Amino acid sequence: MDLLNTLVDKGLRRELPTREEALAVLATSDDELLDVVAAAGKVRRQWFGRRVKLNYLVNLKSGLCPEDCSYCSQRLGSKADILKYTWLKPDEASKAAAAGVAGGAKRVCLVASGRGPTDRDIARVSETIEAIKEQNEGVEVCACLGLLSDGQAERLRAAGADAYNHNLNTSEATYGDITSTHTYQDRVDTVTKAHDAGLSACSGLIAGMGESDEDLVDVVFSLRELDPDSVPVNFLIPFEGTPLGKEWNLTPQRCLRILAMTRFVCPDVEVRLAGGREVHLRSMQPLALNLVNSIFLGDYLTSEGQAGQADLDMIADAGFEVEGAGTTTLPRHRADALAAAGCGTGPAGCGSHEDGACGSHEGGGCGPCGGHGAPEVPEQVPADQARTDLVAVRRRGAGTDLAPNA
Ligand code: SF4
Repeated sequence: MDLLNTLVDKGLRRELPTREEALAVLATSDDELLDVVAAAGKVRRQWFGRRVKLNYLVNLKSGLCPEDCSYCSQRLGSKADILKYTWLKPDEASKAAAAGVAGGAKRVCLVASGRGPTDRDIARVSETIEAIKEQNEGVEVCACLGLLSDGQAERLRAAGADAYNHNLNTSEATYGDITSTHTYQDRVDTVTKAHDAGLSACSGLIAGMGESDEDLVDVVFSLRELDPDSVPVNFLIPFEGTPLGKEWNLTPQRCLRILAMTRFVCPDVEVRLAGGREVHLRSMQPLALNLVNSIFLGDYLTSEGQAGQADLDMIADAGFEVEGAGTTTLPRHRADALAAAGCGTGPAGCGSHEDGACGSHEGGGCGPCGGHGAPEVPEQVPADQARTDLVAVRRRGAGTDLAPNA
């Protein structure tokens, strides 16, 4: 296929595809899917080999958020039966982080629900970062605390944070349909603040919220422009009790096309397969490892992931390897740029890089297939096939009495 040859050539040169080329990837047929995966896989291997970076989420504060993000089980008025608790103490968070590190995680993502941190919250999280760094040698820490005020990113950086996550989630044009309590520009501003403070920026998306192909291409192109070091791709987990609880529109094939498009647009960036992989990709998860170079290990913020051992087995069975602590994740040119900006995760620093995509604020949705002469592929999953049985509320992770699953 000329399209795929062109996209591979551009990906190997870090050249931006055209919007039409990105849309054409989303419009490919199921007959072409393996060719699409193979092509994007060449780009993935060029920049990241066969390595898979593992990241581990610690939910510092769960539920009771005043914001109204439609996809989120922690939102204002959510009736989802999730765990709710206030800030974990530094030692508790460090203990939870250690479980992930023992399972092979290289990065710990510290997440807290809420619009954004107060200065007191920043002090609390700074203590937590210090405890985790002291007790887990060499681990990278990413914070995901919502919208940042001036100076807060610098304080987190000074406390030892390596990265900051804040997702754009969806296109600017549809952002107002998903959330009314803050704006798309608020999110862009926070990613910029993190970047300017020398933190490795992490920002991604949630697919499956009813967006069109054009919306998906818009948000991925906006991310390329923001130039984060890592891009988490979430697939909406439709939680009962949230406005998007009935959005079961994704198929494994569509998820793979979205990941391939993201890889072509962001070829040398850590693309992370984030929330929703188990429920939407299901038995096709191993194929996605040809497209992404990073996944979360274990549970998500408010839902259970598959067991950590199942992830490790999947990576080995698919012929990939878990990235070791001594390996630099990012390609040399990106790692050098990060180090020059003062981030400790650069090559001159602690070794590894990247930020986590703690933005796995679970969500779901579909998108009409584009066109480009390709046969029309039905993407809508009939309501009676909705796999609500696949969404299990998190009961095992940090903040519970039970052991984490990694
Ligand atoms: S995504 Fe974050 S800000 Fe939005 S409702 Fe959920 S916890 Fe609150």
